[in-house]
Amino acid sequence: MDSSQTSKNIIVLNTIEQVRKQVKNLKLQNKIIGLVPTMGALHDGHASLIKKAAQECDEVIVSIFVNPTQFGPNEDLDKYPRQLNQDMEVCKSNGASIIFAPSVNEIYPSDEHLTYVVPPEYYQNKLCGLSRKGHFNGVATVVLKLFNIICPDQAFFGLKDAQQLIIIKKMCKDLDIPVKIVACPIIRSNDGLALSSRNAYLTRAGRAKSITINKLLFKIQELYNTGLKSKEKILEIALKELNEDIKLEYLEFLNLNSFKKIDLLEKNTLIAVAATVDNVRLIDNIII
Ligand code: AMP
Repeated sequence: MDSSQTSKNIIVLNTIEQVRKQVKNLKLQNKIIGLVPTMGALHDGHASLIKKAAQECDEVIVSIFVNPTQFGPNEDLDKYPRQLNQDMEVCKSNGASIIFAPSVNEIYPSDEHLTYVVPPEYYQNKLCGLSRKGHFNGVATVVLKLFNIICPDQAFFGLKDAQQLIIIKKMCKDLDIPVKIVACPIIRSNDGLALSSRNAYLTRAGRAKSITINKLLFKIQELYNTGLKSKEKILEIALKELNEDIKLEYLEFLNLNSFKKIDLLEKNTLIAVAATVDNVRLIDNIII
């Protein structure tokens, strides 16, 4: 994509200098700026964040950047779907006015001796942080860089990546970053599967297996609603929902405020799952 390309009323900017210039103009007009950070391959989950941002802010900037520092050596960085033209349509039709789509070199001109944001170990050594070592250092670093480049008033994140959202909120609090973090609900397809850019890797059979992940979560919710509180007892019943070919990486119950693992379900519990279906790693969660 050229350095500055327009499709009707959406502008695609590729450099930090260009986006800073645009933002400066918008700030001079006292516009409230919303940022939706993404890695592209946009679907209705991302669209819901853009829509929410357009409701809350005067101008919405969507960043599209497949961030190499948050991928591990054996992860899907190279095959991660990239489809800027389709993404432009999603951004435009949901109310964004600017796409910031930098190259890797623009964001990490020298990848040696990089200064990283390192979120607390306490928040990293659970859930996805256990199998994805360094992942949240990469996420926090790129998000802080985007905040410093764009200086948004508000930034919109999906609860789909609950641990990420909690870590970003903590980073803003600890580092006095003046950005309001807005949490947006998980968008699911009709069969209940949480939308994800990685769902594109699933075969038809894989997809049929995958929906048992959300069935498992909703069974837990149902059991809680009938009065069951013990994690052990709940899992004894609920795990029967999960297709037997699915490799469960974790299924954790955590208090949303303290981020502590719990054995007795109560209000404000995050129930988070990661599982692999035919080599596709999926995550999902519900909040009780
Ligand atoms: P990604 O492109 O995967 O980095 O995601 C960008 C943002 O979209 C993150 O804040 C995600 O949590 C959010 N997101 C991804 N999938 C969904 C979904 N199904 N529902 C709501 N938000 C989502």
